[in-house]
Amino acid sequence: MSSNSLLLHDENQGAVLVDSGYGSHQAQTLALVRHALISQRMPSLRLIVNTHLHSDHCGGNALLSQHFGCEIAIPPGEFDAALAWDQQTLSYESTGQSCPRFKPDHVLRPGTLIKQGGRQWQVLAAPGHDPHSIILFEPESGILVSADALWEHGFGIVFPAITGEGLETERGFAEVEASLNLIDTLPVRLVVPGHGPAFSDLAGALQRARKKLDYFRQNPERHARHAAKALIMFRLLEVGPQPQANFVESLLKTPVHLAMWRAYFAQVDAQAWTKELLTELAHHGALKMSPEMELSAH
Ligand SMILES: [Zn+2]
Repeated sequence: MSSNSLLLHDENQGAVLVDSGYGSHQAQTLALVRHALISQRMPSLRLIVNTHLHSDHCGGNALLSQHFGCEIAIPPGEFDAALAWDQQTLSYESTGQSCPRFKPDHVLRPGTLIKQGGRQWQVLAAPGHDPHSIILFEPESGILVSADALWEHGFGIVFPAITGEGLETERGFAEVEASLNLIDTLPVRLVVPGHGPAFSDLAGALQRARKKLDYFRQNPERHARHAAKALIMFRLLEVGPQPQANFVESLLKTPVHLAMWRAYFAQVDAQAWTKELLTELAHHGALKMSPEMELSAH
C-alpha cells in the first residue's frame, strides 16, 4: 500500500526523505528510516519532501516529523489545502482513504533545487496522475524520482479523467502526455518510481506508458474500470479480509467509486457493477473469494 520512500543522505546537514508511505505503515516507515540513518551514521532527518499528497505517499509525515522534529515540503498546489487539512480537496474524503494530519512548512516550487549530499535535485512539475505532482531529477547521477507519473509498466490512475467530464478527462490525459514528454528530454540513467523496483530502461518504459495512454485516451471507460479496480484493491488491503456483502456496501458509500459508476457505467445497477469488478479481480487472481463469500487480497 505504501509508495517507495527514498532517503537522500548528507552527513553534514542530515537526510531528506522523499515520500513517506501509507498511514497504517507509519511505525514501520519510522523504524526503516531510523535504521537507515543509524547504519549510515547520519545525524538525523532534516526534511520530508512529498511528490504529491496521495495518502500512500504522505501517510508517514505526521509521525516522522514529530519524531525527528523535521520540516515538510510539498507541491505548491496543495499547500493551502494541507495547511487547513481540507480532506475533500486532498482527496481523502472521496477515496475513503485516511492520512494522519501533518503541517506543511515549505513549498516545493517547480524550477527550484533541493541541495543535498553535494547534489542538486531539480524539482519539476509532472501533472497527469495528480494535477499537483512534482518529480525530482539529479543530472549528475541521472537519477529520476518519477513518483506516479511513470512506472516501469505504466503510470498511476489519471484522477482528472475518472469523473467522465469530457474536458477534464482530456486535460488529464494531455497532462500525462506532457509529463512523459518532459521525462523524455532528461538524460536519465536510473528511474526510482513511486511504486515497484528501480529500473534503467527509460525508453522501454516510455514506450509502454505511451501505448497505455493512447488506449485509455481512446477508451476512457476502460481507464475508469482499471481505476475502480485499483482503488478496490487498495481498500481491501487496508481493511483486510471482509465478508463480500460488507465490502460491497462500503464501496457503495465511497464517493469516487460512485462517481466512476455514474460517469461510465450507470446503465448497470451500481451493486451489480461492483460485484462484477470483484469477480474480475478474483478471476485475475488479485483477490480471493472464499466459499463463505469472504474477500481477501491475494
Ligand atoms: Zn498517487
